[in-house]
Amino acid sequence: MALFVRSSAQVAGCSGCGAQSSRVHARYQRMLADAPSAGRRTRVVVTVRRLKCANPACALSTFSEQVPHLITPFARRTRC
Ligand SMILES: [Zn+2]
Repeated sequence: MALFVRSSAQVAGCSGCGAQSSRVHARYQRMLADAPSAGRRTRVVVTVRRLKCANPACALSTFSEQVPHLITPFARRTRC
């Protein structure tokens, strides 16, 4: 079983400077293992956006949006 989720936020804050951006550069999927549900192995597939930073002084040209209520950076499982 797989659950497909994505953020519904319109903007995300740059991890380098904090500037808000809605300019989507790319999207990619992260696969997370999750606890069994009803005895079946469950995978969570999160679509994450990569956005362009709007701050010309920022060292990052693009950054990945965070979904802190669901996953932490580099996590392989959802938060409990
Ligand atoms: Zn930035």
